[in-house]
Amino acid sequence: MDPGKEKAYRDGLNDALQAGFDLLAKGGSSLDAVLAAVISLENNILFNAGKGSVFTSSGHQEMDAAIMDGSNLAAGAVAGVRNIRNPIELAYTVMTKSPHVILAGEGANEFAKQQGLKMEPDEYFFSEFRKAQWEDLRGSESTALDHGGIKEKKFGTVGAVACDQHGNIAAATSTGGMTNKQFGRIGDSPLIGAGTYANNRTCAISCTGHGEPFIRAVTAYDVSCLMEYAGLSLREAMDRVVNDKLVKLEGEGGMIGIDAAGNTEMIFNSDGMYRGSQSSDGTHEILIYR
Ligand code: ASP
Repeated sequence: MDPGKEKAYRDGLNDALQAGFDLLAKGGSSLDAVLAAVISLENNILFNAGKGSVFTSSGHQEMDAAIMDGSNLAAGAVAGVRNIRNPIELAYTVMTKSPHVILAGEGANEFAKQQGLKMEPDEYFFSEFRKAQWEDLRGSESTALDHGGIKEKKFGTVGAVACDQHGNIAAATSTGGMTNKQFGRIGDSPLIGAGTYANNRTCAISCTGHGEPFIRAVTAYDVSCLMEYAGLSLREAMDRVVNDKLVKLEGEGGMIGIDAAGNTEMIFNSDGMYRGSQSSDGTHEILIYR
C-alpha cells in the first residue's frame, strides 16, 4: 500500500477509536462506544461498511450489521439493507425499539423509515475502488473478500468491542459483505453468535473474514463457549478458533475480542487486518499487518 493510502486507513481507525474512547472516558457505556466507533467507520469510504460498501452480483450495496450488549444479552441486527446511511444504527434501533432481534431486506428498510433513520441515494454508497473490484468478478460465480489484490488480504468489514467503567462489554459489526455476493446473501456479521457476540460472563467478539465458514463454525459464540465451559482465557479461546477451527474450514479472517476485565485481543489467520485499540491504561495502537 502506498504511504498516503496507509495513512488514510490509519487516520480512519484512529477517528473510530477516538469516537468510542471519548464516550468511555466520560463514563459512557460500552454499547454507546461500539455504536459510535462503527458509525465513524461506516461514514468512511475506505471501509467496507455503509458508504464504500462492496457491490453485489446485481451491482448494488446490500449491508449487514449487528450489535450486542453483554450486560443483558440484548441484541439487534439487520441483513440485506439498502440505502440506510448507518446500518449499525438501524441494528441498534431494532434492539431498542422493536421486539425482534433481526430484520431483513424490505421489512428492515420499512422499519428504518418509520423510525426516521437517515436514508441515502445509491450514489452515496458508490466508490470507484469497489466498482473496480466488482468488475473483476462480474458475471462469474466467484465472490471475493474485500481486498485489493491477490496478495493483499485484509478485510474491510468493520467492528468494535468495548469494556466500560462498570465492566460491561459490547460488540458491534457492520459490513457490505463480499464483492459479487449473490444478492440476498447474508453473511456472518449480522448473525448473533457467528460474526458478533457479547456476554459479560465471557467476551465480546466481532469477526471479519469469509462469512460462510464463520457461520458454520458459530465463530463468536464458540470463543465464548471455550471460555465459559472449558475455562480458556480470551487469548487461548480466540487463538483456538481463528488458528485451528476456522483454518480447518478454510475460514480466512480474524476477530477482535475483549473480556469484562478489559483484556483485548486481535487475532487473524490472514496477511493483515486493519485494527487498533485504546485503553485507560495508556495503550494506543493502530496496526495493519502482522
Ligand atoms: N464477514 C463478511 C461477510 O462474509 C465479510 C468481511 O468480513 O469482509 O459478509
